[in-house]
Amino acid sequence: MIPLSIPNFEGNEEKYVTKAVAEGWVSTGGAYITELEKVLSSYLGVEEVAACQSGTAGLHLSMVECGVKPGDHVIVPTLTFIAAVNPVRYQFADPIFMDCDDSLCMDPKKLASFLKMECEKTDKGTVYKATGRPIRAMVIVHVFGNLADMETIMALAAEYNIVVIEDATEALGSRYESGKYAGRYAGTIGDFGVYSFNGNKIITTGGGGAVTAKDPEKARHIRFLSTQAKTDAHNYIHDEVGFNYRMTNVQAAIGVAQMEYLEEFIRRKNKYYDLYKELLEDEPNVRLIPYREGTRSNKWLYAIDVDMDRIGLTTASFISKSEELGFQTRPIWGLIHEQKPYRDYVAYKMEKAPYFYKRVINIPCSTNITEDDVRFVAEKIKTIIKG
Ligand SMILES: *Cc1c(COP(=O)(O)O)cnc(C)c1O
Repeated sequence: MIPLSIPNFEGNEEKYVTKAVAEGWVSTGGAYITELEKVLSSYLGVEEVAACQSGTAGLHLSMVECGVKPGDHVIVPTLTFIAAVNPVRYQFADPIFMDCDDSLCMDPKKLASFLKMECEKTDKGTVYKATGRPIRAMVIVHVFGNLADMETIMALAAEYNIVVIEDATEALGSRYESGKYAGRYAGTIGDFGVYSFNGNKIITTGGGGAVTAKDPEKARHIRFLSTQAKTDAHNYIHDEVGFNYRMTNVQAAIGVAQMEYLEEFIRRKNKYYDLYKELLEDEPNVRLIPYREGTRSNKWLYAIDVDMDRIGLTTASFISKSEELGFQTRPIWGLIHEQKPYRDYVAYKMEKAPYFYKRVINIPCSTNITEDDVRFVAEKIKTIIKG
């Protein structure tokens, strides 16, 4: 069975982990944590990165730091992994769900029309007219490593004075090559940028994450909050409510080794993406979903858009056929605004997300996949599509 996406430990992972264990630095202190933060900052071209327990923890800390309070609104995508949304509820704030466009990322046109038609600029900031409560922040997800239209989104954020939290958990290494943000990486454009090193991401620390912020002081404060907010560590004095969200040295040891391979992983992701593209190019009823022009994407997770109605299948039957034929696939996430905890929240003019929900399938794309595997999977995809 060719797996969807598995972690790859070709480098110094074992060596560094062994060193961390041998030296007894296994918990939330140790040289690998600061080393990983340094390597990430220099790779991303930012001053400060705080390593934490998970991408979810990083998103939560960003919301705490930008002052999302109970009753505030936060604009979020509906087509995403639910971890991008749950931290809104950890703060007892209310999400407002936004549709995607053909890039699968948030639709900036709908965002603009929502802000213009449904919101009002006041001295308390932008408020949602229906509730009179402020829109404090928005979470922008770079879906599957594909960069969102940050140029338009940042202009709207400035116009309406809304904090932007970039969920770059799937997009470490994706960057713009043209336009206003040429040379800038996913996560370094908004007010906050969050990364994940979960086992399925482009690099992993087992579980883990990191946060950067436009204001380095805020990133430092996030690090402070993540370590129980110790105002005086020796005397156990705390002036704020903190969290136990700091990354451990064992996780960071794996992370430092993985960072040595990040560019190589991205090179392979791009290479095998191009091969799939070539093999599926002339196939009707299936299309490899492209990445935004003018960007260098990490191409973290490949997705195909299948005309299920036309071939008489559903995503579920496509997936079970693929498993019978020897390769693993998965559907795109259940839309968040339709999930039980979120059904009562506002969802603005959903069209594209429900459309793609019925058509998109992720296909094998591990960094240690082989050319033969890709050819095999492409052949089998054609078999399924032809019935
Ligand atoms: C993986 C992921 C997260 C959460 O990261 P964890 O490290 O698993 O907590 C958040 N948002 C999106 C879009 C993700 O894909």
